[in-house]
Amino acid sequence: MELKGKTAVVTGSSRGIGKAIALKLADLGANIVLNSTPASDAIDAVEKEIREKGVKALTIKCNVGCFKEVQEMFETISKNFDSIDILVNNAGITKDNLLIRMSEEDWNEVIDTNLKSVFNCAKAAAKYMIKQKSGKIINISSVSGLVGAPGQANYSSAKAGMIGFTKAAAKELASRGITVNAVAPGFIESRMTDKLSDALKEEYMRNIPLKRFGTPDDVANLTAFLASDKSNYLTGQVIHIDGGMVM
Ligand code: NDP
Repeated sequence: MELKGKTAVVTGSSRGIGKAIALKLADLGANIVLNSTPASDAIDAVEKEIREKGVKALTIKCNVGCFKEVQEMFETISKNFDSIDILVNNAGITKDNLLIRMSEEDWNEVIDTNLKSVFNCAKAAAKYMIKQKSGKIINISSVSGLVGAPGQANYSSAKAGMIGFTKAAAKELASRGITVNAVAPGFIESRMTDKLSDALKEEYMRNIPLKRFGTPDDVANLTAFLASDKSNYLTGQVIHIDGGMVM
């Protein structure tokens, strides 16, 4: 697989899965636009690591849940790169609580960060991809969006919403040479899953036929395939990467 000369935007790439995806796409030759919240300081080190691979890197810190900030982000990207070829909608958060205890604020924040961000970024990127008549949009959903998870009404709704979005956008953009696919990871080792209790981790493990948690690299390898020309005849799909947890 080769991505030389392509430009990839990876949201939420300061750590975890997004960082692994950014590094993998850079390994394949893509120039990378990194993104995190304005509060992140970890992303500067990621930018350095990407530049050391001999590709261009640009960091734009903004809240991807905010329409205006995302518009500005893509204007900056278009001024710095000749094309926008790959968009990975990866930024995400959890704010778990039982439905009856979940605040409106936690509902809104999770929906905005995980789902509205996909609309914001895909709408902005599609403008450029349509002109180019090519593009790859990859949405990092979750098994929670497929089967639901207790305590995650907000997160499961957002991740399920991403799947509906993927299929609608895939149908709309196919004639313009743009593919849109979703990846549904299971339990992946990252800061997001570090905070889960040992009891919950054991319960997840019992349901994973391959008997190990996934790594950010597992997700990055699949995403790289979806970002490459090798997946050109694949669109509107949701690919599970979960050690067999959901089949
Ligand atoms: P992490 O918490 O490790 O990383 C989340 C990333 O998203 C960080 O870079 C963070 O930036 C960024 N981010 C959060 N909010 C915003 C925002 N408003 N605007 C811009 N960037 C933001 O998560 P993971 O790596 O574990 O998860 C990555 C994606 O994969 C998420 O969408 C998650 O839902 C999904 N996923 C993860 C699974 C897992 O088991 N880990 C399973 C299934 C799906 P900052 O450094 O600024 O906070």
